[in-house]
Amino acid sequence: MIRIQNIKLSLDEDESLLKGLAAKKANISMRDIKYFKIIKKSIDARDKGNIHFSYIVDIDTILPETPKIIAQKYSRPQKRIAIIGTGPAGLFAGLSLARAGFQPILIERGSSVENRQKAVSQFISERLLNTSCNIQFGEGGAGTFSDGKLNTGVNSPLNKIVLEEFVAHGAPEEILFQNKPHIGSDNLPNVVKNIRKEILSLGGEVYFDTTLIGIKTDGGIKTDGGIKTDGGKITSILCENEKIFDIEVENVVLAIGHSSRDTFQMLFDNGIMMEQKDMAIGFRIEHKQKFINKSQYGNFAENIKLGAADYKLSSQASDRGVFTFCMCPGGTVVPATSEPGAVVVNGMSNFKRDGENANSAVVVQVKKSDYGEGILAGIDFQRKLESDAYIAGGSDYSAPVQLVGDFLRNKESKAFGEVKPSYSLGAKFYPLHALLPKEMTLAIQLGLQDMDRRLKGFAMNDAVLTGIETRTSSPVRVLRGENLNSVSLSNLYPCGEVGYAGGIMSSAMDGLKVAQIIKEKYAI
Ligand SMILES: Cc1cc2nc3c(=O)[nH]c(=O)nc-3n(C[C@H](O)[C@H](O)[C@H](O)COP(=O)(O)OP(=O)(O)OC[C@H]3O[C@@H](n4cnc5c(N)ncnc54)[C@H](O)[C@@H]3O)c2cc1C
Repeated sequence: MIRIQNIKLSLDEDESLLKGLAAKKANISMRDIKYFKIIKKSIDARDKGNIHFSYIVDIDTILPETPKIIAQKYSRPQKRIAIIGTGPAGLFAGLSLARAGFQPILIERGSSVENRQKAVSQFISERLLNTSCNIQFGEGGAGTFSDGKLNTGVNSPLNKIVLEEFVAHGAPEEILFQNKPHIGSDNLPNVVKNIRKEILSLGGEVYFDTTLIGIKTDGGIKTDGGIKTDGGKITSILCENEKIFDIEVENVVLAIGHSSRDTFQMLFDNGIMMEQKDMAIGFRIEHKQKFINKSQYGNFAENIKLGAADYKLSSQASDRGVFTFCMCPGGTVVPATSEPGAVVVNGMSNFKRDGENANSAVVVQVKKSDYGEGILAGIDFQRKLESDAYIAGGSDYSAPVQLVGDFLRNKESKAFGEVKPSYSLGAKFYPLHALLPKEMTLAIQLGLQDMDRRLKGFAMNDAVLTGIETRTSSPVRVLRGENLNSVSLSNLYPCGEVGYAGGIMSSAMDGLKVAQIIKEKYAI
């Protein structure tokens, strides 16, 4: 196999030319090429006068052999393997365990993806929040109503496996080679549904609208100041839907994400060891997508082959780092609270990314020392800001907004300019500079000005800030040891955004890792 790097195609050239160019580079006749695959496609926009596509491809004169897979055999667990949560971590753990014949049982507090869409629409149309089923909770997890960006900083062979599974379950094939792949909010529900269908077809079970509310152990729980035994195990889980019932379990994957605050409290009350964790908070910033296209692609901004441009910015202009996060080209700002009397924002876009505005989180680092005492103090810190944002927005789930120019000058905004906020529940002007602790506001102000030096116009007067973005990651981590099990209970596996992942890809990969560890316990 020969890997050819850096094949360039201009924006006018067709991808069908690639094979010939690769053959030429490798000094092989086109006719002899039996295998050709695009490995990576990226936009090279470093020189605004010569924006082009850059490819990495694999070619060969023979067809690759299909690797022989010797199926591992497993003994059967005597009781169920339960997975709590059907976000990417839970779904991928479930898929892997189901394929190995374990018939896992998945417990999800929210509804199936089909019914979840109705709950989210109802919140937007009637301001009626369903606290179990919303943008954070429900089948597919937090990222189901998202841009479905699949970038990750985690370098692992599991990355490719996750992308291939997404495609096998209905995601667009180009995610396999795009440098910055995304699925889009319009494709995600279908992908999620197809993964569920496969789990069910293999004998797994999924309980929707069912919440884990308690655990029973063999009494050997290991806590900070409590009983010192290593052999503690969960024996059953307590679940609630219309009724409360027990399920006897042999292993539990805890893939509950970062927003299930009552569950964190329940685990804490049961002595499960956790620690505080740093995170970030801030706002969504919105610009016209046309402006972002122009600043990234210059004269090529209108070229449809390039699609909607993105950006990623960071600043160390103050002691606290400020960075953009979860940028959604052509997307909208969405109401992402899971609790009543709170405003939380996040972003999503459809696959085409063809909306008017570009949005991104612009957030400042929050340190554990900002929370105060107590393992769950970070949650109280988030809650207070979310409740302040609710009141600032008029106490009806409208979001507080401010123009960037006014935010930088500590001035109240009076009227929108070119950029209109996309938040679907309405926006109310509020001096956002007064919403966050002072030093965090200052850090974001300095950060925005610094970012403006790199992306000219980023801190333009008319750009809109919408508050408040608090659910960037978990403020608490459920501690696990080398074998990925909880340090308190040997058959409880904290997984994904409970402190071990940040985003769809890394959560899915963590799900696969945890599933592998569980499978190995039964390998024969
Ligand atoms: C609007 C939005 C947009 C996003 N966009 C992107 C993006 O473009 N790219 C990206 O990489 N990341 C994005 N993210 C982040 C990403 O979605 C998360 O990092 C990821 O979903 C975490 O996966 P997870 O499986 O660990 O947890 P989650 O996806 O949060 O899933 C946890 C699940 O557990 C369920 N649950 C919780 N407690 C219980 C309980 N007690 N009983 C039963 N079920 C329970 C919840 O209902 C939820 O469905 C976005 C997040 C949001 C909210």
